[in-house]
Amino acid sequence: MGKCMIIGCGGVASVAIHKCCQNSEVFEGIMIASRTKSKCDTLREKLQPTTKTVIETAQVNADNVDELIALINSYKPDVVLNLALPYQDLTIMDACLATRTHYVDTANYEPLDTAKFEYKWQWAYREKFEQAGITALLGSGFDPGVTGVFSAYAMKHEFDEINYIDILDCNGGDHGYPFATNFNPEINIREVSAKGSYIEDGKWVETEPMEIKRVYNFKGVGEKDMYLLHHEELESLALNIKGIKRIRFFMTFGQSYLTHLKCLENVGMTSIEPIMYEGKEIVPLQFLKAVLPDPATLGARTVGKTNIGCIFRGKKDGKDKTYYLYNICDHQECYKEVGSQAVSYTTGVPAMIGAMMIMTGKWNKAGVYNIEEFDPDPFMQALNKWGLPWEEDFNPVLVD
Ligand code: NDP
Repeated sequence: MGKCMIIGCGGVASVAIHKCCQNSEVFEGIMIASRTKSKCDTLREKLQPTTKTVIETAQVNADNVDELIALINSYKPDVVLNLALPYQDLTIMDACLATRTHYVDTANYEPLDTAKFEYKWQWAYREKFEQAGITALLGSGFDPGVTGVFSAYAMKHEFDEINYIDILDCNGGDHGYPFATNFNPEINIREVSAKGSYIEDGKWVETEPMEIKRVYNFKGVGEKDMYLLHHEELESLALNIKGIKRIRFFMTFGQSYLTHLKCLENVGMTSIEPIMYEGKEIVPLQFLKAVLPDPATLGARTVGKTNIGCIFRGKKDGKDKTYYLYNICDHQECYKEVGSQAVSYTTGVPAMIGAMMIMTGKWNKAGVYNIEEFDPDPFMQALNKWGLPWEEDFNPVLVD
């Protein structure tokens, strides 16, 4: 069917690459292009004997638009799947525009110097992508990603209007370390140490970090503490889903994680302000990343399950209705299949599916779109087929 260029070769990319290789009918060729080429080559050596997908590799600095343009022009992919870091979103979008190539990512752009998660920078490309006749699909991971597809599916099949959405992200996995992050530590800590917020009656309501706590009993995992966080999909879902009065995002954290995080914060290790150290400028959070376990090494030691989904409340045929859509994923099963834990798996699988939707023409409109703006049905079918089956509950326990 076509060729996909994957930028980045970290935890999420590794899963997406395994999945592309399982799906050779669609992904006839992939190019893995990242900062450290040796990681790309190691993956190619492992996977090439197992797949018909022709794997190529390249070194690229995705902060450099000209380098990206040259690489895209030489490989001529149908779509570029950006699985590097959010800082690279705009340079990769610029290169896609210049080469008229479709674009997919899993996280919205944020400037390196301020932890601000907003779509405004990427939404500003709408007209340019429309005029170029290409698609940018924003946020094709799990959250954002599957949570948006779940919302579009609920809206299409179960509701006339959705008034309340609670997104619940539970990781019941245990890696045995007192403190480690399940994906890129810098991105993860920036996210959880930022102020919380949710949308009510069209306005953002801000909270202190971890101020709002609830306890929820997750199927497949059990009872967990969860905390309200700001999360990027709130912004787009509040605009794209009809009837929204309030939308919140909760993530589970264990006590050990929070105690360590508080201590690291108190001593200044989570700061993104550069400091001088022995004549060299360093960013404390980037230094912390260097001493923490690499998320890619957690897979072998993580046991337990994740449960991520959305509880919807709204109206159907004039009556109140509640509906919960979620996926349960087992860390060890993911590890057996692709050598990664469930947090990378639940992001990498939807990333592959998003690229597939565009390569197969199932999703085909020029412009910049969030994932819930497309027909959810083919994506929902693909989730069942490619390893993230969903479950539904028409009488869920609600979050107060
Ligand atoms: P990793 O840090 O494991 O991987 C990032 C990869 O990008 C690395 O291979 C890194 O190269 C490469 N990279 C970084 N900077 C550049 C650059 N300038 N040029 C080329 N390559 C570069 O991150 P994850 O795999 O954990 O996360 C990937 C993305 O997925 C992030 O944007 C994250 O926010 C997002 N994500 C989304 C989720 C969702 O549900 N929507 C959930 C989890 C993550 P090197 O090997 O040299 O370091």
